[in-house]
Amino acid sequence: MTSALDAGPRVPLPPVLMYHSISPSTGPDPHRLRVHPARLDRHLRLLRRLGLRGVSLTELVRAADRGAAAGLVGLTFDDGYTDFLEHAVPVLRRHGATGTVYAVAGLLGGTNDWDPGPRCRLMDADQLRAVAAAGQEVGSHTLTHARLPGADAAVLDAEVGRSRHVLEEVLQTEVSSFCYPYGAYDDAAARAVRAAGYGNACVTGDYHPGDRVTLPRCYVGPRDTRGHVAARLLRHAVRLRRAVAAGTARPS
Ligand SMILES: [Zn+2]
Repeated sequence: MTSALDAGPRVPLPPVLMYHSISPSTGPDPHRLRVHPARLDRHLRLLRRLGLRGVSLTELVRAADRGAAAGLVGLTFDDGYTDFLEHAVPVLRRHGATGTVYAVAGLLGGTNDWDPGPRCRLMDADQLRAVAAAGQEVGSHTLTHARLPGADAAVLDAEVGRSRHVLEEVLQTEVSSFCYPYGAYDDAAARAVRAAGYGNACVTGDYHPGDRVTLPRCYVGPRDTRGHVAARLLRHAVRLRRAVAAGTARPS
């Protein structure tokens, strides 16, 4: 998918890893969304060994704006499951890392009703405040986990704009990061993200180096080893080099 939002070469950002649930649970995981906290710990230890540091998306984008993003890797956690506070935050803290957790603003304290399959608890307002107090970033993942491509203006306004206001009310601070449910977007959705005032937004897969509202990410699954994560970081570097060579991205 191409975006008509930005013309010309873009300054690419470092890689962004995409997690969902971080939990030691052994229950069914049909969508392969759960990573054990010990595995996350191994991934973050790998980053440190490679001289890299995991950071939230706002920190990543701000560093890129200062030309200081080398050595950083974005860490994201979709859907806002309660296990983020219980299991991911302690691991992130242990490694001096930050991450962005994307909450579904209209389902705080509820469950992942959009998924056919096992129900998982979503953080409520107090838990989101605890996440922010722990130095982690809370971003928006819409109001209802809606699929945005083809949505009309009123739906985009609610899912993109109002979800930001809901979370800002909860957190009493600016919400700068957005994540498209299912990674799915079109130009109208990306425009709505910009219009709502977000500073960055993540997709899944589609690769537009440097476009701040369609940032690509690397999926991390339940069985991914340090080797898998290292391979994805390398692939990101190779893609960036190709994009620079093809003139679709500028060297950072
Ligand atoms: Zn999601």
